[in-house]
Amino acid sequence: MRSSPEACLRVCEALRRYDRFVVTSHVRPDGDSVGSALALASALNAIGKQARVINRDRAPAPLCEFPGVARIELGEEAGDGIDAVVVLECGDLERTGLRGLDRVPLINVDHHPGNTGYGEVQWFDGTAAACGEMVYDIVTELGAPITPDMATQLFVAIVTDTGSFRYPGVSPRTFRTCARLLEAGADPVLTARRLFDSNTIGRLRLQGAVLQAMEIHESGQIALLYLADAALASTGGTLEETDGLINLPLSVKAIRAVAFFKQAEDGQYRVSLRSKGDIDVGRVARGFGGGGHRNAAGCTLAGTLATVRSRVLEPLVPEVTGSRGPLPAVTHRD
Ligand code: 5GP
Ligand code: MN
Repeated sequence: MRSSPEACLRVCEALRRYDRFVVTSHVRPDGDSVGSALALASALNAIGKQARVINRDRAPAPLCEFPGVARIELGEEAGDGIDAVVVLECGDLERTGLRGLDRVPLINVDHHPGNTGYGEVQWFDGTAAACGEMVYDIVTELGAPITPDMATQLFVAIVTDTGSFRYPGVSPRTFRTCARLLEAGADPVLTARRLFDSNTIGRLRLQGAVLQAMEIHESGQIALLYLADAALASTGGTLEETDGLINLPLSVKAIRAVAFFKQAEDGQYRVSLRSKGDIDVGRVARGFGGGGHRNAAGCTLAGTLATVRSRVLEPLVPEVTGSRGPLPAVTHRD
């Protein structure tokens, strides 16, 4: 699939053709999936369509303060009595965590490299910094008015997926879209306060505990973070409260990649990966059946922490140290 405005038009044509929609996104939703889905559902309502938003998992706490989040239904299937499902932000259908998607026409809107091209209608745009940029184009093309709530939802999508306008996907289009969203009523100060200044004490203590236990790989360029159930119990934090924590080691100049290993059910580990510049952790994650972008990706591996750690380091170390040669020696305190 290629990025093209025609694909956007085809999506809009399908949205006009059907009447009853489900809008969904990925498991463990983030700001982009929540904000994009809510804004699209409102636009569909505005042009006279029925739209339900169904996700498998609930939105993380900081997002729950934003308008419209209460309309998200939690479920494991798309259900009956619908004409089409809009799948946002999912490289493949497994990412939705929903069953029964094989029975309805699907509209696939995504910006993740590696999207498998499922669905009756597809719009893939790898140049979009957030799916929210694509949904903005769809809403505009549909002729639906952008209400202050929709503007806020799309602004949240873009702010979160760009790491507050710091990731490489950011483009003039990102800022043009955001300018229009601010004109339509998005409030950047209030949005930032709700997103970034709504920590709990538990989360702060959990961050402290995880950073205390951080390991620096011998290359000096990779930080390894671990989270076991015991840390959650002792700090009173929750797993969800570790969101964003992975980015902290990247604030160290010499650190170019971070791997965060979180104990999950059934002897599995959730591995989140982040990187700077041209280091491609998306490729590393895809090698383990996961996915994501060049600088933010994830996968799930079975095994003990020791085996999962060494399996991930095997492709990650050459990815980090290979392309540009070694950095000058650093100490762990840099
Ligand atoms: P996180 O580390 O926040 O869970 O994920 C970072 C990004 O990597 C997500 O926005 C998503 O694009 C991608 N990602 C994470 N886990 C998976 C996975 O298991 N499969 C796929 N396809 N993508 C993932
Ligand atoms: Mn996204």
